[in-house]
Amino acid sequence: MGNIKYGIYELVGHTPIMELQNFEKKHHLQANILAKLEYLNPTGSVKDRAAWNMILDAEEKGEIHPGDTIVEQTSGNTGISLAAFAASRGYKTEIFLERGASKERRQLLEAYGAKLLDYRDALGIRTEEERKSGWHEPEREATLKEIYAYCDKQKEKHYFINQASNLKNPEAHILTTGPEIWNDTDGNVDILICMTGTGGTAAGLSKYLKERNPHIQIVLAQPAPQSRLTDDNPNAEIIDGVLPFQGVADEDIPEFVSKQVYDSYMDVSTQQAYEVARDVVATDGILIGTSSAAALFVAKELAQKQQNKDKNIVVIMPDNGMKYLSTSLFSD
Ligand code: PMP
Repeated sequence: MGNIKYGIYELVGHTPIMELQNFEKKHHLQANILAKLEYLNPTGSVKDRAAWNMILDAEEKGEIHPGDTIVEQTSGNTGISLAAFAASRGYKTEIFLERGASKERRQLLEAYGAKLLDYRDALGIRTEEERKSGWHEPEREATLKEIYAYCDKQKEKHYFINQASNLKNPEAHILTTGPEIWNDTDGNVDILICMTGTGGTAAGLSKYLKERNPHIQIVLAQPAPQSRLTDDNPNAEIIDGVLPFQGVADEDIPEFVSKQVYDSYMDVSTQQAYEVARDVVATDGILIGTSSAAALFVAKELAQKQQNKDKNIVVIMPDNGMKYLSTSLFSD
């Protein structure tokens, strides 16, 4: 009948690209900045694509059945996506939340019906009372081994979907985001900029776009040292959902972010991202999240260069500012 959707998963993707014309004018930019508004996915983030592709694969392989529990480690967005699709397909969701996730992410996860866990649950040392008393940031994250062991221990089926190494995560961008960008720009992409968490978005887009045009430059933004949560910097104001991949120990480099994926990278601090986010909501009326703003910061730097005159710079906007209202992005 007409154009009716029959499930939340049918709302995934087909996000628009909008040129930030007022932002370009204000800063006298030489290049065009084309924002891919991934926050218009059904749960408000780019991770809907990977989450749906991973669930579909697990269903097709017979790994999950209604009533089972999907388990994931996430900074929030993947968990929110999984919880929404799980609800609509009859699964439960349990989320090992990464440290530093914004309050809104925790609230959204619980609103979508996910149970929030941390490494103490994996080790069986957090009591029900402790869990009921609300979220207390754990001193560390659960290891993959602990999460697998936790799943094995449960009486009912618990399936660790593991976005960090699940190939269906980057594949979602090869199948959907990449073709959308290519088609909506008629193949006129010169530079693509994004931040990376698992690296699924970057790896998938790099593969798809470079196969079509090997000259496309993939530029990744990463959190600057002062924006990383470390033992020396436990109160860092982080850029939610993303990780550094250069200048970190080999074992900390996200699995999908190999050197073949990108041509260059740039460090961006949380404060630099905040300034850009406040700027673009005033120029073009779009309320973007911190990782979107960090990518836009890099786009602005590149778009000021004479060598990039008239080039098309596509910037991935993974989520929007509503998830950050409690942070100092908009509350200061
Ligand atoms: N930005 C935000 C806000 C995110 O939540 C994520 C995913 N954690 C990313 C960017 C990076 O996405 P990916 O996992 O595909 O690298």
